[in-house]
Amino acid sequence: MTHEIAVIPGDGIGQEVTPAAVEVLEALDIDFSFTESEAGDAVEEATGEALPDETYELAATADATLFGAAGETAADVIIPLREAVGSFVNIRPAKAYPGIDAVRPETDLVFLRENTEGVYSGHEDRLTEDVATLTRVTTQSASEQLAEFACEYAGPESEHDGFTIAHKANVMRETDGLFRDTVAEVAAENGIDTDEVLIDAFATKVCLDPTQFDVIVCPNLAGDVLSDLAAGLVGGLGLLPSANIGPDRGLFEPVHGTAPDIAGEGIANPAATIMSAAMLLEYLDYDEEAAAVHAAVEETLADGPRTPDLGGDSSTADVTAAVIERL
Ligand code: ATP
Ligand code: MG
Repeated sequence: MTHEIAVIPGDGIGQEVTPAAVEVLEALDIDFSFTESEAGDAVEEATGEALPDETYELAATADATLFGAAGETAADVIIPLREAVGSFVNIRPAKAYPGIDAVRPETDLVFLRENTEGVYSGHEDRLTEDVATLTRVTTQSASEQLAEFACEYAGPESEHDGFTIAHKANVMRETDGLFRDTVAEVAAENGIDTDEVLIDAFATKVCLDPTQFDVIVCPNLAGDVLSDLAAGLVGGLGLLPSANIGPDRGLFEPVHGTAPDIAGEGIANPAATIMSAAMLLEYLDYDEEAAAVHAAVEETLADGPRTPDLGGDSSTADVTAAVIERL
């Protein structure tokens, strides 16, 4: 079976790291058909549209999408693209790697972030010059969908042993109360172990000892902030992959942006995008190939070659070739 993969490099180093990840996928013995399309600042300048219909359609119909980064137009690109794949969960692993300088080298976490609602549901109003308001939306259905995914992700078939629900239901009793109760109930029905933690307490605890956590399930804003905090613990955003999962398709992207300060120099670190491609492989059930790509990236991070952001002097192409060689 051929898997249709949409490739959207976007702007800045997206143009460099996305082809690198495609090269790694092409080195595997899997039948992929890649179709590239444009999005971001450059195509907006040329056509007036940051996300051409053709690109949206491609993401909405491909089996999976590999996305790089978009610059000024990021919000106009990534929000509709997540919608195109119907993404209800954002998976953000934050793992420290041997050989890479990290505040907490023992960190190995995965955030499962609700991806559609909470305070990011867009219901904001400016009532008077003095007063602005925001409506926070939590639905039982979105919480259930996230919880069912989390049960699968951290269940008995996985390397994980249940998950932690992070919330602030002691203050936001209705919204986070519904979130916590729904997620806990779905977990109990599926026989999955859970515990819970208040998000403010989590922020302190994870800094002091990240090994007390494994998989963390959280509402949208909390997941956004806390996974960036965890990125700080493992040595910065440059190494973090992510996956946006929908019912029938997924979109995979590095957590970092366009890095305009180094774009065009051929020295961007492709590791985050290559690991996003490994998440794409896992999503399509190529677990062995995904593990092999992760291992090849980890070996390359530990033994080199390395790009300048990691203290080396190698190029994107050198690092990509080394990963493929180790594969
Ligand atoms: P954007 O507005 O697109 O998010 P940014 O200026 O915030 O761009 P980021 O991409 O978020 O830039 O990166 C922040 C810093 O980390 C920059 O100094 C950038 O060079 C560095 N960086 C990010 N990703 C990488 C990478 N893959 N390789 C090397 N350096 C990176
Ligand atoms: Mg940025």
